[in-house]
Amino acid sequence: MSEIKSPHPEEQHKSHRAGWLRAAVLGADDGIVSTASLMLGVATAKASDSVILTAGIAGLTAGALSMAVGEYVSVSSQKDSERADIDIERRALKNNPEGELEELAHIYVHRGLDPDLAQQVAEKLHEHDALNAHARDELGISEQTMANPLQAALASGVSFSAGAVVPILAAVIASEGKSAWAIVILALIALAISGGIGAYLGGGHRLRAASRVFLGGGAAMAITALIGHLVGQSL
Ligand SMILES: [Zn+2]
Repeated sequence: MSEIKSPHPEEQHKSHRAGWLRAAVLGADDGIVSTASLMLGVATAKASDSVILTAGIAGLTAGALSMAVGEYVSVSSQKDSERADIDIERRALKNNPEGELEELAHIYVHRGLDPDLAQQVAEKLHEHDALNAHARDELGISEQTMANPLQAALASGVSFSAGAVVPILAAVIASEGKSAWAIVILALIALAISGGIGAYLGGGHRLRAASRVFLGGGAAMAITALIGHLVGQSL
């Protein structure tokens, strides 16, 4: 076993905790709030338990699909523009390798290297993989950050559904006529938990983040419930 110590044993970075995990938590919050609100809006309009449940399932399906499609479109267009940028870079490297080398060296000088060292680094990287070096250090694109539309679409659809299941489950287990209360209570508990998880992942203040999600979700549900109530009275 090697005994090599990490050079920074005391640092506990949080931002590397994958962006996708935080995105999943946000997607789940979205699923909880929008589905619970939808169900409450219907519930306060004096709908029956089966109508409330139907609204929840329709809300889950519509929400998950629209999240997935939206994510797919947005990540695809991001990927297209990254590809186009890389193509421009590839052409520039072919047509003007000297100028590109100079450009890369300039970037490293800007980041604090001495001109001689910057030139050396740029030359080495040009020998190794010029396109990759330009993509990474000039455009900020790397294999790791390169977006995958299908994966992003699936992740957001699944995380939305995971959140949306909470109020649906509440309506299923609630005794007759008590759906609305069960939805509010379970949704708020789930929001508080996900707020805490989100803060843990982000390294932020846990209680503050949890209460932000909790209050925001509570407000959304209260407003939709009020509107459902008003509409229910006027119909
Ligand atoms: Zn370049």
